[in-house]
Amino acid sequence: MGTPQVERIQTACEQLKLRRICQVFESESETAIEKNLTYLDYLDHLLEEEVQDKQNRNIVLKTRLARFPYQKTLADFDFGFQPSVDQKRIKDLASLRFLQGTENVIFLGPPGGGKTHRAIILGLEAIKRGFTVTFITLQELLSALSKCYQENRLEDKLKFYTRPRLLILDEIGYLPLNTREANFLFQLVSGRYERGSMIVTSNKSYGDWGTLFGDNVIASAILDRLLHHCHTINIKGESYRLKDKRRAGTLPRPILTTGKEAVPKGAYPKTV
Ligand code: ADP
Ligand code: MG
Repeated sequence: MGTPQVERIQTACEQLKLRRICQVFESESETAIEKNLTYLDYLDHLLEEEVQDKQNRNIVLKTRLARFPYQKTLADFDFGFQPSVDQKRIKDLASLRFLQGTENVIFLGPPGGGKTHRAIILGLEAIKRGFTVTFITLQELLSALSKCYQENRLEDKLKFYTRPRLLILDEIGYLPLNTREANFLFQLVSGRYERGSMIVTSNKSYGDWGTLFGDNVIASAILDRLLHHCHTINIKGESYRLKDKRRAGTLPRPILTTGKEAVPKGAYPKTV
């Protein structure tokens, strides 16, 4: 049991939700006496501790809400592995100017090329800087929207995915979309257009998106909005997942290159 004064301060901290100050004010007051700190130094230090603690908790919470499949940062990234991508470009994207300008980023390339990893690097950086981020694969997105459509709640769900400042949409290209699904995606991309950035990853070049969406008109409409303010990063080379196997000689030759590069801006399927 502390003195009545200590208990009063603890109660006040709890009421004001000053969690960190509540933990450290007693020990810090002893340190302040030892170090001959002024009252203002002591107060300044306590408030700094509280602000830092709140920011850290906010980052942890936002990271949980973002639902990344894994967490990896720039420090975990081997820039030498896919030399087709300029390290400077990724570091420049990590400055998040694209997010401030409501621009999009699209990573194109074969499986294992580090598309998702790069998207997560940028997503985590955005959270550190206070932005809201949601990560979702295209399949997860479409099944969530289809479910809400059946329950007459499509509008609400579309708003939900329009809200985060950054939406990371992973894995466009593995499964074809039906017309309804392509429409869902169009509505989402339109809803976010010039309102919030998207990071998209795909193993297919833009020229293949018409086939993927089963409709060139809708593919054009989606690409038109996505590419208007957009940084496209083409990743070439072998799979990072398979590099150790290849080194051990269990895979005969590089099998995972796109063979195709994304077509330049404007060369995507024409609206008919
Ligand atoms: P993709 O999304 O292109 O299929 P991922 O980004 O999921 O590939 O990468 C597959 C795995 O390889 C992940 O564990 C990722 O962290 C790792 N990886 C890919 N590229 C690199 C790299 N250049 N440096 C370090 N790890 C990498
Ligand atoms: Mg991936």
